[in-house]
Parts: sequence; C-alpha cells; structure tokens
Amino acid sequence: MIEMSAERKILLIYTGGTIGSVHDPMTGSLVPIDFSQITRHVPELNRAGISIDSVSFQPPIDSSNVTPMHWRKIAGVVMKKHELYDGFVVLHGTDTMSYTASALSFMLEGLRKPVIITGSQLPIGMPRTDGRENLLSAVMLAAHPNPENPDSNRSQWGESTIQEVAVYFGNQLFRGNRTHKESAESLNAIISPNFPALVDAGVGFKFRKHNLYRAPKGALTLHDHFESKVAWFPIFPGMSFDVFERILDWDELRGVVLGTFGSGNIPDNKQFKNLLDLAQKRGVSIVNVTQCGHGGVVHERYATSLLLSDCGVISGGDMTTEAAIIKLMMLLGESDDLSLIRDHILKDLRGERTILE
Ligand code: ASP
Repeated sequence: MIEMSAERKILLIYTGGTIGSVHDPMTGSLVPIDFSQITRHVPELNRAGISIDSVSFQPPIDSSNVTPMHWRKIAGVVMKKHELYDGFVVLHGTDTMSYTASALSFMLEGLRKPVIITGSQLPIGMPRTDGRENLLSAVMLAAHPNPENPDSNRSQWGESTIQEVAVYFGNQLFRGNRTHKESAESLNAIISPNFPALVDAGVGFKFRKHNLYRAPKGALTLHDHFESKVAWFPIFPGMSFDVFERILDWDELRGVVLGTFGSGNIPDNKQFKNLLDLAQKRGVSIVNVTQCGHGGVVHERYATSLLLSDCGVISGGDMTTEAAIIKLMMLLGESDDLSLIRDHILKDLRGERTILE
C-alpha cells in the first residue's frame, strides 16, 4: 500500500523559450515571462499527484542566447539536488534544445534519473498552445516509477523508468543527444532521425523498453569543460576551399566538424585534401558528419571518402551534427590527448551513436 507521503518529487528548471513567452505590446515580438505565470496556465499540474518544486533562470532567456555557462547552471542544479528529487524537467526554448540536450547528456555521466527537456512552439497562454501538453507529459514521464525494479532505498516508489537526458516534444520522448530541431513551423518540431522514440504518448504512455539508456556502473560525475575553439564546416558544390584555409589560419583552432555529402563524401579536390592533411599535422581534430537528414557516415563506402581516413578525419557515424559538435567541444575541453579524443569520438559514450558490428 502506498502512503500519501510517497508522492514522486520533481524539480522544474525554467530557462525561458517560447513556452514562457508573451507578446510585447510595444514591439509585437515574444518576450519571456516569469515561472509562476506559466504554471497558472496548467492547473492540472496540481492534480497530477506529483510534488513539484521549481527554480528559474533570472531572467529567463531565449535559447538562442544559451552558452556553456547555461549548461553548467542546469547541470549544477541537477548535481546539487540529485538526491532530493525523482526527476528533473527543464523548460527550454526549442531553437537550441538539441544542443543543450546533447551537452547535458555528456556532462552528467552515470545519470540514473530522468532529466527531461521540453518547450513549445506556441506560448503557453495561447489557445492552441502545445506547451500545456508538453509540460504535463514531461512532468508525468519524469515522475514515472520503474515498475520492473522497485528500489525502496532510492524513493518510496522505486527508481524512475527514464534514467537519461531526454526531450519530450509532439507526443514523443526522445533520447536527448539524438534529437534535432527540424521545423520552425510544425508542432512536431523535434525529431530523432537515427534512433527510435523512447516513448509514444497516446491515450497512455507506450515505453520502448529496449531503447531506454542505462548508464554503466559508476557514480554520477560532472564533465563541465567545453572547448569553444571549434568550427562547423558544411561543404557545398562549387565552394572555394580558401574559406577552409582561412579557418585553419586560426592558430588556436582545435576541432572541426565537417558537414559532408551522403555517407560522408567530399569532392576530389587537391586543395581541400592538402588542407585536411595540414590540419591533422597541426593536431586539429576533424569529425565527419553527414549533411543528410537521416543515416550517417560510413568511411570508405565511396572512393570520395577514402582519403578522409588517410587525412586522419574521424567518422562521426550516425551522430547528429549537434551531438558531434558538443561531444567534440567536451572532449577537447577535457584533454589534449588526440588519440584519446579520436577513441572517444568513435565510442558510444551516452547512447549518442550506433556502433556498427
Ligand atoms: N526562440 C525560441 C527559443 O528557442 C524558440 C522556441 O522556444 O521555440 O528560445
């Protein structure tokens, strides 16, 4: 029999974004409002049988302004309050949601509680808002106890079903570091191109148990150093590789994510290959990620990618661009050891890439 005091406890971390915005009558643009006004729009939260506390960014921000400092703030709250709550819900703008989800997943090694990020395309006060459903379902999923492994030492209702950084959007829960913002228009704006949803939310929640991430044994450990001297370089037909040369002129450059064609192909261009060689000699880590919406890089499938491996370019596999950039920033922030960085890029650290047998 479950006593009333066995209520699940959730901490809401409000950072800003459209979900908590209203139209400024002076400018007509959307500006963030404070947290109490958000929950006023979702009275169902009080009837969910879940105890909810909240902390808020002061002031709340549009997610276009997010930097590693904000990731540290969010991860810092999770680290500090980890023992006190069954789960965490982060309210965040959609524009950079996938970057924050990737960052938090790499920062919180050994996480065994849900950190569910959500937001909305329409402000929570608007009649057709998607914010109410997103917020309510994110809270309910963060509070969902794992029926398969009750552990009374952690909480009276046992551990949580979700034990990773995830994103709830458009009736689905996704692994955070697999997500990408696909649409500036659709209410299903966030997708997970290379990994199935963890949960489908219909009349009930349908958990895809085999897809849920479980961290290897070990204590919760924070990784909070990010190297910003990293570039993202998508290629296109007819481009001048002088641009790449200029990027390499930056002495302090430590890493590049290449955005290549198809399964990781580049044009047969001597200048580009020489520059990639030069970058390798200078100790710049280069990761190859496809520009395609689905699938990933398979080096050596075509002759046009053969030379990339010779130049020391590291395959990003099926990682999203967001996950690859953030992973590279974190690895470079933690180490100067180029072979260790290469090794870790190729490994699956938090469920962010598929390892092909
Ligand atoms: N510009 C907003 C943000 O990312 C968009 C949104 O929340 O959907 O903060």
